[in-house]
Amino acid sequence: MNDGYWRDEAACKDWGAIYAAAGGDPFFPDEARGDERARLVKIAKEICDTCPVWARCATARKRNDVGIWAGQEWTANPLNKHARSIRKEAA
Ligand code: SF4
Repeated sequence: MNDGYWRDEAACKDWGAIYAAAGGDPFFPDEARGDERARLVKIAKEICDTCPVWARCATARKRNDVGIWAGQEWTANPLNKHARSIRKEAA
């Protein structure tokens, strides 16, 4: 079974248009801070509120640890945060 098929029905499936209209990525606003981050997250949550596959997305979220999934914001778990810091130090 292709686990990704449900994404064809997702309210966020046209990510490119969403990105262009928002002026950034509402679903993964990693680089945004403060008011700009809040603005992007608000856009993502408003899109999620209209999504017909919200429940599937909430299940998929369990395999991912960052970003806006199913209308909720998830931050990196401590292990991934640690891994990111190691990568930055190595760069
Ligand atoms: S609930 Fe939100 S993040 Fe999940 S598929 Fe729908 S629009 Fe995308």
